[in-house]
Amino acid sequence: MSAYQDPLLPFQYRNVAEITKLRALQWRRFKQLLRTVLSSNRFYRNKYKKAGITSADDVRNWNDYKDLPYVTKQELTLDQREHPPLGTNLTVPLRHYTFLKTTSGTSGNPLTVPYSDRDLMAAGEDAVGIFLKNDPRFPPGTRVMLLHPPGAYTYAAENPRRNGLVVIPPDARSDAELLKRIIDMKIEIINAYFSRIVSLTQTAQSLGLDMKKRSRVRILMGGGEYVNPNIRKWVSAFWGAKYYLVTVSTELRSFGMDCANASSPHLIEKPCLMEIVDPATGISSPKGELIATPLWRLDFPLIRYRTGDYVEMMAKQCQCDNIYPRIRNGVLGRIDGSLRIRAVSYYPAELLDPISHFPDATRYQFVVTKERGLDQVGILLELPLKSARKDSLASIRRAYTNFLGFQPKVQLVPPNTFPFEPGKRRYIFDLRPMNNQLKPLSPSWLLVTSYALKYDIMKLLFKYLFFFSRHAKT
Ligand SMILES: [Zn+2]
Repeated sequence: MSAYQDPLLPFQYRNVAEITKLRALQWRRFKQLLRTVLSSNRFYRNKYKKAGITSADDVRNWNDYKDLPYVTKQELTLDQREHPPLGTNLTVPLRHYTFLKTTSGTSGNPLTVPYSDRDLMAAGEDAVGIFLKNDPRFPPGTRVMLLHPPGAYTYAAENPRRNGLVVIPPDARSDAELLKRIIDMKIEIINAYFSRIVSLTQTAQSLGLDMKKRSRVRILMGGGEYVNPNIRKWVSAFWGAKYYLVTVSTELRSFGMDCANASSPHLIEKPCLMEIVDPATGISSPKGELIATPLWRLDFPLIRYRTGDYVEMMAKQCQCDNIYPRIRNGVLGRIDGSLRIRAVSYYPAELLDPISHFPDATRYQFVVTKERGLDQVGILLELPLKSARKDSLASIRRAYTNFLGFQPKVQLVPPNTFPFEPGKRRYIFDLRPMNNQLKPLSPSWLLVTSYALKYDIMKLLFKYLFFFSRHAKT
């Protein structure tokens, strides 16, 4: 008997009987989805017609499935622009879409993901829903607080509510007030973006609040961005709570989740077909872009959807009962090179747009760093001596505070700090760990820019001259 070869992921599943059963179940659900879609969804009918598929019978097995053309976000965005308001990827009439969620990406053309009541009711089918439903530690009445932004809040609340949990909104004007509310309302689970939990923890620490003793929080969960394992340990220890890393997107909802004894999430495959492909070759690979088909999404279907998320599958089986593979540290970044800063994706050109409105600011560098788990943006700026430097500095700071939703560090550097290399200039340096999408100009520039964020101008000048003289010697 030959070894089991999985049709979707290059993973050695431990329990072959179980995964075979799951794939059979998924296949039945997928065929049902395909039949539904081909009967009334104009977007897929047109798309698949071009590929020679007019009936669900044309897709006979997993190999046929893997020949289906990908669906991209750009394609869906374009379709929505050409056919407003929601495009043609609709399985039921427009009036059935009762909740509209827009992707966080600020690429100028965000994608609206409409929910019919049927799709919204399938909330329990994502990773968090399955986690809450199956764990005996969370009986009805368990108290959960969600710290998501308003758009995500509405549907994030569906899961726990449907499972009988009590959902308590933050309703606080400051973090200090919020921490008090967490204690008073006897919150047991907090679900939020990682950076939100980190900033809340920093506030608690600065206020001298011992959340481990004073609060009843046992579980912290969330993701939505790169999670630094060391910061995560610190946060867990501070709250005396296990931190569950969740991988999440507007299109798939939560699709990966930690188990009790691992710190890299399992891909929760039951409600979603998943593949990982090398984006350059399209060949199945343990490292690459996640391709997904959520089986529960019938009315805004995503079939072989290119998520744009870069993941790395771990070869080693987890010790827990969970059969699914794990992805190292969750989603590692975006395939297309956009930057994810505090859970929001920015393309480099967008990040540079506000500063382009200040004609005096022509030489600058942006440095994205991570400090105690929080993304920070530093702007190093040269301004001509004649300009109203203080006013310009304050205006730029204000413009970016509005744009980013938090205050960046804006700092003046001496004239001619940045070399002029026409056609070769780089403006953004991402110095966060695990991020190799944008490489700095040279190692000495990397050091100069990162020092500049930490020290005042005199120290910066000193370092700059020091490097210059050292390089001159060698
Ligand atoms: Zn596990």
